[in-house]
Amino acid sequence: MAKPKTTIDEHGQVRDRRGEWRSGRPVYLEPLLDDPTNVKKIVKWLTGFPGFFFPWFALYMIVIGASFVWFTPAMERMQTFELGWMLEILLRNLVILWIWNGAFHLWFYSYKMQGRLKKYNANWQAENNSIFLFDNQVYDNVFWAHSGLLIWTAYECGLWWGYANGWLPYLDPLEHPVIFCLMMMAVPFWRNFHFYWIHRLIHWKPLYDHVHYLHHKNVNVGPWSGMAMHPVEHLLYFSCMLVHVIVPSHPLHMLFNGFQTGLGPAVSHSGFDEIVFGDEAALRNDRYMHYLHHRYHNVNYGESNVPLDKWFGSLHDGSPEADAHFRRVHSERVKAGTA
Ligand SMILES: [Zn+2]
Ligand SMILES: [Zn+2]
Repeated sequence: MAKPKTTIDEHGQVRDRRGEWRSGRPVYLEPLLDDPTNVKKIVKWLTGFPGFFFPWFALYMIVIGASFVWFTPAMERMQTFELGWMLEILLRNLVILWIWNGAFHLWFYSYKMQGRLKKYNANWQAENNSIFLFDNQVYDNVFWAHSGLLIWTAYECGLWWGYANGWLPYLDPLEHPVIFCLMMMAVPFWRNFHFYWIHRLIHWKPLYDHVHYLHHKNVNVGPWSGMAMHPVEHLLYFSCMLVHVIVPSHPLHMLFNGFQTGLGPAVSHSGFDEIVFGDEAALRNDRYMHYLHHRYHNVNYGESNVPLDKWFGSLHDGSPEADAHFRRVHSERVKAGTA
């Protein structure tokens, strides 16, 4: 008997033949670089919840503020390369990574606090699947995330060493408070711009086959999948932090850059469209854009705040029309032997 085209799940959500659920909203793009500029939309995005500042930007500010004040070794110690202070930074990043990723994992996957409500994929994380290390998707993802942790920390330690010795261009927040704040706000845009290009690079077949394939084993993503990358990809991915070698900045900018690069993937790979708190409250997550990248590979290389995919024609907005378009593009590429 043929499988029905759609099914209704236990939450009343329509799922297609493959078990996929869609919100019905187009993929979310932040409005700052919209053409033409829509001031009303931008103001709403800046002040909204969720919006640019709340909750994620604000949460990152708390994380980097606390890390800077209480969990970063004294500058004098960081003038020389010594294992002691570097291990302290590694431990701090390790603890924060586990709390952050762990919180998402426990909420969505261990305790299944909202069941499959607003979950894009019908299935839970894979077990007894030999494509993953230890035959287990979560263990595999957790393992590889620690390669990311090491490389992120290595970049951070190198940059602290540079700051401690006065070798890096420095921006004093007391002398330039406005530029300091604007630069803080620019960090997510820089990160997404950088990510788009390195992501395109690792989709080049030789790099894809040896490096990026590892991340794409995860079609049905979970919070730990975000940082499940090959070490070479981690090296490229966290290289966005090297911008501080050139651009005058404060260590807090560098911390934000590092923490958002290290922690952001748990949010963007949660696999859920909303975090639902009971019947009354829900926080929109809107990470369908990257979910579709894992589904279709050749779409949505970037993220939502720098619309490079829109400009270069690789944006899949989640609609059936976009499905049909990219299916056509794909079959043409298969015919031409370039897929
Ligand atoms: Zn991904
Ligand atoms: Zn990719």
